[in-house]
Amino acid sequence: DITASAVVYSEYGQPSQVLKWHSYRLPGLTPTTVQVKFLASPINPADVNMIQGAYPIKPTYQKLSLDDDKLLAVGGNEGVAQVIAVGDQVQDLKVGDQVVMANTGYGTWRTHATGPSSDFQLLPSNDKNVSMIQKATITVNPCTAYRMLKDFVKLNQGDYVIQNGGNSAVGQAVIEIAKAWGLKTINVVRNRPDIDNLRKELTELGATHVVTDEDLGKHETRALIKSWVGNSKPLLGLNCVGGKSATDMARYLGENGQFVTYGAMSRKPLSLPASLLIFKNISFHGFWVSKWAEVHSKEDRYQMLEDVVGLMSQGKLGEPKWTQVKWDEESMKTSVDRGISGFAGGKQVVIF
Ligand code: NDP
Repeated sequence: DITASAVVYSEYGQPSQVLKWHSYRLPGLTPTTVQVKFLASPINPADVNMIQGAYPIKPTYQKLSLDDDKLLAVGGNEGVAQVIAVGDQVQDLKVGDQVVMANTGYGTWRTHATGPSSDFQLLPSNDKNVSMIQKATITVNPCTAYRMLKDFVKLNQGDYVIQNGGNSAVGQAVIEIAKAWGLKTINVVRNRPDIDNLRKELTELGATHVVTDEDLGKHETRALIKSWVGNSKPLLGLNCVGGKSATDMARYLGENGQFVTYGAMSRKPLSLPASLLIFKNISFHGFWVSKWAEVHSKEDRYQMLEDVVGLMSQGKLGEPKWTQVKWDEESMKTSVDRGISGFAGGKQVVIF
């Protein structure tokens, strides 16, 4: 018998108020199921929104154990786990395999799970150059960065991409993947007292230029960016933030540019000058990696994971900046509350 623990909720609200610690007897293996042990799971902004009831994917309420009488949702959507037992009829996974979740909304803040092998996706390789933190955070942020750089506009070596939220985990992946593909990046970040440290960190990661949100709208900055890009204005803008930062950024796109919104960290609406649509024919899109995964085949997803793992193995895509969260009730509650508060020290990751 395995005693598992999970961080669960049964109603929406502020994470520290609705999250509960739950210990339970893990359901036993059947011929068609596998058992996994979680190794590490991050706390992402979407996890917090989901607990608040403000996310389009609703949690799966389930009985975690035969002894439970209540339906509970397990927090978290992303993580890496190791297969510890497989049923006789399971063909596609074996003990020792490392897996990520096949679907959004699975619930990854738990020590163990039992389920059909279709709940899990095998990771392409067990390369020792790819760390547990990289594996735990691979499906959401690097894949989002990868798709947005690939799917909206054909970019050539030396082309510029502009993004805000440049220091977000997605932003860091954009910087590194862009560099690996020979693209240049202009990265907008919020100003802060120690901005020079952040500039240095992002530049070391491969950022071509770092600009603060406060400077972005200024005349001097327009001239400066013009001197960098010359006639090849960026044709791809990636928007993590919304509000003024997004409006200011859109003005830097060249004719027929593509502006892709994937986050709304400022919680401010997008406001766009008509001139960008009329005179520059800029198109505005959204991107959602969960939807991408839903409408693409398992093979397409595997191919992307292979490419991303390949970049990791070659040392071109590193760990996001991260901090460890202890696996106990109080640490989880405070960390999840902190999950979207801004000016953070990096991605929070639970190691089990
Ligand atoms: P991180 O927690 O790593 O980064 C958060 C980023 O948001 C930081 O750059 C932070 O900058 C910035 N930020 C926080 N609060 C504010 C604020 N009030 N105003 C402006 N900027 C702020 O997040 P992720 O990289 O994991 O995710 C970033 C965003 O992308 C989230 O909105 C997430 O939901 C979304 N996302 C969307 C996906 C999709 O498929 N559409 C997939 C993955 C992520 P600072 O240091 O200045 O606080």
